[in-house]
Amino acid sequence: MIKQKKITSLFFAISLTACSSQFQGAQWDSGIPSTQESPIEEEILPIGQDGTPIQADPIDHSFESLVETFFAINRTLVRLAHDFSYTWQGCSSIALVSGGYDSDSKCGNAFFQPLFEKQMNYYFFQCVERASLQAKLSIPKKIFINHYGSYNDRAARGTNRLSLHAYARALDIVNFNLLDETGRITRISTNVRNYRGTTKIFYDEFRQCWKEKMPASCTPNQTEYKGSIGIPQSPLGGNNLHNDHIHLSYALCGG
Ligand SMILES: [Zn+2]
Repeated sequence: MIKQKKITSLFFAISLTACSSQFQGAQWDSGIPSTQESPIEEEILPIGQDGTPIQADPIDHSFESLVETFFAINRTLVRLAHDFSYTWQGCSSIALVSGGYDSDSKCGNAFFQPLFEKQMNYYFFQCVERASLQAKLSIPKKIFINHYGSYNDRAARGTNRLSLHAYARALDIVNFNLLDETGRITRISTNVRNYRGTTKIFYDEFRQCWKEKMPASCTPNQTEYKGSIGIPQSPLGGNNLHNDHIHLSYALCGG
């Protein structure tokens, strides 16, 4: 129970510092904002019956170093149409991966079904590192993802079956913004127009890596067993519906 309380406190703290100006414009800065950027912290403390503010538990910073914070996850389960889901806190300033919906400048949250979340936290950063090495880019220190969202209760386009978005098991990635240790940002677009050179090498290696991380239960006769859908001319294939994003998923065959 104590640990759970600490986790709650951590995410409470994250939510207070979330969505600051750190991602404004093209000058994405992944630096950890100071608490001075969140002056509302004191104002929203709940008030006790005697009229004095109730102090939140002090933040346990040792917890942060013990837990993988590639994606900051709020593990309060949310009921969706076909499954339960965690929430990816896309604005977290302590996570190594942040992101936002269809925007170069705004961070935001997205639903991650627990198995998809696990796969993302285990392998996403690792696959970005591998793709960066292959493309002869610096290993990123942090990543900001521009995306088209995760949860959407709809059928897969052109089919009668539910999309993996209906289960919050997919994220449509528009750009990978890679921040290296010198502060430089390299943007990897997933748009077919940019599928050449370094971007092409990164794109193909990232998808190949992600495919290799799919469980052995995902065999070629299973839907989305490759773990992603991209452009038709890429080695792992795709279709023209994915000319402006990579559909990154964790298929039902994975469990
Ligand atoms: Zn998609």
